[in-house]
This record gives sequence, structure tokens and C-alpha cells, in this order.
Amino acid sequence: MELFDTCKESGHEQIVFCNNNDVGLRAIIGIHNTVLGPALGGTRMWPYENEEEALRDALRLSRGMTYKAAVAGLNLGGGKAVIIGDPRKDKSEALFRAFGRFIDTLNGRYITAEDVGIDVNDMEFIFQETENVVGVHQAHGGSGDPSPYTAFGSIQGMKAALQKVFGDEDLAHRSFAVQGTGHVGLHLVKQLREAGAKVFVCDIMEDSLAEAVELGAEAVGTDEIYDLDVDVFAPSALGAVINEETLPRLKCKIVAGPANNQLANDEAGNELERRDILYAPDYAVNAGGLMNVSIEFEGWNHERALRMTRAIYYNVSRIFKIADRDGIPTWQAADRMAEERIATLGKLKLPFMGKPHRFPGRNKH
Ligand code: NAD
Repeated sequence: MELFDTCKESGHEQIVFCNNNDVGLRAIIGIHNTVLGPALGGTRMWPYENEEEALRDALRLSRGMTYKAAVAGLNLGGGKAVIIGDPRKDKSEALFRAFGRFIDTLNGRYITAEDVGIDVNDMEFIFQETENVVGVHQAHGGSGDPSPYTAFGSIQGMKAALQKVFGDEDLAHRSFAVQGTGHVGLHLVKQLREAGAKVFVCDIMEDSLAEAVELGAEAVGTDEIYDLDVDVFAPSALGAVINEETLPRLKCKIVAGPANNQLANDEAGNELERRDILYAPDYAVNAGGLMNVSIEFEGWNHERALRMTRAIYYNVSRIFKIADRDGIPTWQAADRMAEERIATLGKLKLPFMGKPHRFPGRNKH
């Protein structure tokens, strides 16, 4: 891979390679864009086949965070880190503390959090070495599990989509197919049921599915979920579920849910548009988790987290307006909204605030 050519194409500011032979640390930190603020994004630990695969993941994920933060209206840039290793056998206190020291050298340009393969106990070791970490345990003044806020935020995105399609955002009149009843999915089901909605669910894990049924949802097969005649299909498990195979089967009016990377490719987003299915872009809908950790800097509390995640309604509505304004699919409108915000705020120059000049060597007396 030609590294500078790759950075030029993706717009990355900086890539940091971290190596420590003593503890077996090999990590890559991708800092995509810091125009809006420090680059925030989790650390993923994964047994990558090779370095190139790890680097590509760091680049792809950190770029995604720039867009997510920009659309969420946060004063944050995009970053993400990957540690090459098997989370089941390669974790140690020394590995995470060594990694924490590397993060600290960046002086706040990159702020880390949890991602796939990393849990709150690992974060405690990183936290011993640097302040530049969020998603720490509530016992340390952190924000704890983001899932309820991601679910609450996703519901705000769904309401914006319902308003656009039906001119009525009341959840009680509507039906939902929730694919995946994990951390976020279960909170989503709970909040939808409390609002009086009809909810169908599927999952490969029987126990979490049973919990959703107890909340009043109706269980269906993992394949059947695509064929349901519902108002909203809510991907809440895997990525790439909107693809060539599933698109002809969808009968919903809206796709809106918390899962990351729902579209298999851009063409899947175009096809949703052609089929008159409104797509609420995933990274705008699921930003509640990021918003939740972002308030740790100023002191996290539940009310602030709810207040901030409510803004997802307006963010998603604005994406729909940009799509209408420019005659483009909603996935593209979300990207445009992010790019416009970064470009506008990046050029913003404050007026001179009147700080007195000092001329060393001059004296009135
Ligand atoms: P999770 O692992 O707790 O839940 C995922 C669920 O999907 C599991 O119950 C799993 O059994 C189920 N699943 C796997 N394969 C399936 C299949 N083929 N059909 C149906 N169900 C299947 O993860 P989570 O934290 O709930 O996250 C769910 C999604 O939301 C992910 O895409 C994640 O990236 C995204 N997301 C989560 C958060 C958060 O706050 N946790 C924030 C932003 C985005």
C-alpha cells in the first residue's frame, strides 16, 4: 500500500504506529480529521490476518467517525485505533498500559473508547496512563453502558422518518421489525413497546429473544424478518443487511435502526430510494452512543445525555431536507451534511477580540 497516496485519497491527517516488543503490542491509530475537535473513536482488538487488513480497518473506521461526529453536531473529529491480537488470549495489563502511554503522547489529539474486543476492564488500564479516554466505568465518573442512549437516539431518528413518510411521528400507530435483540436491540424493543408500537423481533440467541417476547414483541425467524409487512425495518445486529438479496424482499416504508454499516454498498442505498423506501442513515441514527460518551468531558449525567440524543430527530430531518434540496439519496445527503459542516466551521474565523498588544522595550514613563 502506498501510504501517502492512501492518506491523500481518504483525507487522513495522521496515522500512528505503536510497537512495544516487551508486551507484544502492535497497534495503529488513525486520526482522520480534527477540524471540528479532537479525534474521538474506540479501540478495536481483532486477530487481523495481516498488517494491511488492520491498517485498512483503522482508516475506514476513523473516517467513519469524522462523519458521525460532524452530523451529530459534536465538536469532535474522527479517529479510531486497532490493536492486532486475539482478545481471548492476548490481553494483559501491560499491553493496555503500553497502549495508554502511546495515546498520551498524542496530547489529546486522539481520545479513545471501547470497541469490539475491548471491555470496561481493559479501559481501566488505559485510563491509568492517560486522561484521553471516555467510556470508563461509572465508578470513575464515566458514562457506563451507552446502549440505552443509542436506542433512545435511534427512536428519535425513526420518529423523524415517520414524520417525513406519514406526516405523523406517533410510534403507537406503527409496526417495527427489529433485527437483533442484543444490548441496543432490547432497549429499543422496550422503548417501542412502552410507546405502544407493534414490534416483531428475531435473534440467533434464544435467551435475548425470550426477553424481547416478555416485553410484548412477537418473535419471527431470522430470515423471515426481511419479508414482514411493517412500517419500519430496524437493523440492530449486523452490517450489510441491505443488499441485492434482501432488497427485493423488503415491504417496509422505512429503514432506520442502530446497526452500523447497514448498506452493503452505495448502490443498495440508491436502490432503497428507487423502491420508495426511506433510509435514515445509520451513522446519524445511532450517534446516541457517541453523544453519550462525549459529555464525559464536562461531567456526564442522564438528563444531559437524553437532551443531547433528542437532537438526532433534527439531524435526521435535516438530512432528508438536504436530500430533497439536492435531489440525492439520503445516504449521500448525510455525507454532504457532514462535509458542509466541516468546511463551514473549518473556515470560521473569530473576529479580533481586543486582546491588548504588548511591545517589549517601550515605556510611557
Ligand atoms: P450486541 O452484540 O449486544 O447485539 C447484537 C445482537 O445481534 C446479538 O444478540 C446477536 O445474537 C444478534 N445477531 C447476530 N447475528 C444475527 C442474525 N443473523 N440475525 C439476528 N440477530 C443476530 O451488539 P449491540 O451493542 O446491541 O450493537 C448492535 C448494533 O448496533 C451493532 O451493529 C453495533 O455496531 C451498533 N451500535 C451499537 C452501539 C451501542 O451503544 N452498543 C452504538 C452504535 C452502534
